Amino acid sequence: MSTARILSISAFKLLFVLFLFSACSESQQKKVNQADQFSDSTFDNHSYSNIHRIKTKHLALELDVNFENKTVYGIARHEMINSGTDTAIFDIKSLDIQKITIGQKGHEKETDFVIGPWDKDSIMGQPLMVKIDPKTSFINIYYKTTENTEALDWLNPELTSGKQHPFMYTQGEAILTRSWIPLQDSPANRLTYSATVHVPEGMLPVMSASNPQKRESDNTYDFKMDQPIPSYLIAIAVGNLSYRKLGNNCGIYAEPELIEACAYEFVDLPKMITAAESLYGKYQWEQYDLIVLPYSFPFGGMENPRLTFVNPTVLAGDRSLVSLIAHELAHSWSGNLVTNRSWDDFWLNEGFTVYFENRIMESLYGKEIADILAKIEFQELQDELEFIGESDHPEDTKLKLKLSGRNPDDGMTDIAYIKGAFFLKTLERDLGRERFDTFLRSYFKTYSFKTVNSEIFLDYLKKNLLEPNESDFNAEEWIYKEGIPKNCYAIRSPRMQRVQWLAKRFTKGEDIFNEVKWIKIKGKKKRKKQIIKLDRNKYITQEWQAFIRELPEDIDPKLMKKLDTELNFRDWGNSEIMCEWYVLGIKAGYFELRPSIEKFLNKVGRRKYLMPIYTALSKDAENLKWAQQVFERAKGHYHFVSKSSVDALLYKN
Ligand SMILES: [Zn+2]
Repeated sequence: MSTARILSISAFKLLFVLFLFSACSESQQKKVNQADQFSDSTFDNHSYSNIHRIKTKHLALELDVNFENKTVYGIARHEMINSGTDTAIFDIKSLDIQKITIGQKGHEKETDFVIGPWDKDSIMGQPLMVKIDPKTSFINIYYKTTENTEALDWLNPELTSGKQHPFMYTQGEAILTRSWIPLQDSPANRLTYSATVHVPEGMLPVMSASNPQKRESDNTYDFKMDQPIPSYLIAIAVGNLSYRKLGNNCGIYAEPELIEACAYEFVDLPKMITAAESLYGKYQWEQYDLIVLPYSFPFGGMENPRLTFVNPTVLAGDRSLVSLIAHELAHSWSGNLVTNRSWDDFWLNEGFTVYFENRIMESLYGKEIADILAKIEFQELQDELEFIGESDHPEDTKLKLKLSGRNPDDGMTDIAYIKGAFFLKTLERDLGRERFDTFLRSYFKTYSFKTVNSEIFLDYLKKNLLEPNESDFNAEEWIYKEGIPKNCYAIRSPRMQRVQWLAKRFTKGEDIFNEVKWIKIKGKKKRKKQIIKLDRNKYITQEWQAFIRELPEDIDPKLMKKLDTELNFRDWGNSEIMCEWYVLGIKAGYFELRPSIEKFLNKVGRRKYLMPIYTALSKDAENLKWAQQVFERAKGHYHFVSKSSVDALLYKN
């Protein structure tokens, strides 16, 4: 590959001034575009790209995944719709741009480009400005990733289940795709993509696209995603993967060592797809597969289309955490089909998905279970409200956010997910399920393969649900005001109350492990005493979570030890229970937990579990010191996303 053609300093300055000028006129343009709310090309605070002038329609990738250098060598061939501009602006972050050409493959000519400065907090990366002709519609960017590429996680063999082969995967959401592909990284634009990927011998690549199920002898694979998607959903994983079919149009990719456990855990996947389709319409992406990643994956799941990325902590062995799969599947409608136009409207992706997830769980397992799940989430929302209320940004408890100048990840809180879902639950209660479902079906249909913001949704809600039913529902308050409105739907869960009562009795010193029951003996006046042992399996995971949450924070460590002796929360294997238990143990000074906590922090890289545990540890000096030592040993196993969150938490002073 040839080296970059860097412009002279004066030409650079000129182009940069032009860039600033075009940024100003972009905000003017924004005002103009507001009139045209259905245009998908509006301004995004987290992208430098000029998608209102030129935008990618199709992206053809040529990738060589090199595990020795931990580098992806790539060519990103953009097929653009150009309104007649002479500059195309792309987003890049920590990428090495080698050369840029214009024209179709084989008829290319090299062109000039300028890389602009970083933003002040290094969140957005840099604008890549490419000189083109007003008629240019093919731009080819030759590049390679660097060791600072945040989207990529390269794992040495010892961090995989098989311990023989390395593993690599990407995480694009929210704005990390630009760190492994130079592109216009805004959810406001949708594009199709194809890819040719070369990997080392023994490895199988899979993408958010049509996927291979078998190895190719030349280690080169072709991928196609024919439905237009936002850039954050372009994803790849490469490892020693095998495939197991679970149903007509669904299956699982995992390391061979995990495939049996996966097949057991996710056996209900075909039923989930059927339930989701009968709720809100046909699944639009043909195939639905899962890939179970190594433990360092920072999220529970990522809804990459056709191929959900799953954290192995979901493999609880008892199918108790499969609501996560229902969540990722629901994203095939909310998020992937109807997408938030900017990260300020993230609740449109997540709130709808949590609502939808709960409806799938209700279809499969009944209302009692769905209510327990929602109630547990509502408890978490209370903690989040308190936390955000005391933070520097109390306005973040609004659904519609203003994240300009901030990291879009700041909006990934329970507000978007759970407040968003309870907004919809409250609407359902007030307008009736039947009407609400009809409304949602038409919303998904109307905005399929489009992007929306809160204003579009609100307008659609008023016209299609509230006004026809003469409802004065306080939708504006839900979207634009802080906190939770008073009319919020309240869930009653008798099953949850029962375990909370059990926890209260335990705290008072009662023996809950051996229940005495007096049984009437047939035909006799006397009754017989019977001891019933408390069976851990009598309650589901979320009931045990409710039990633990009901215990006081200053609980006597001896009582916690008693619970461990009887029920073994500390080494249960179920991450939800263990995380809950460790946080309580840290607060209560139950130091005997430390070896189990350290083991857990060394194995699991999922931010949902790392953050509460490290946060609890950061509250006093002695625990903080220990947490820093553990983190230094464990951080090699964490993805960039988790590592930077924990780092900021433990070293904030
Ligand atoms: Zn989600």
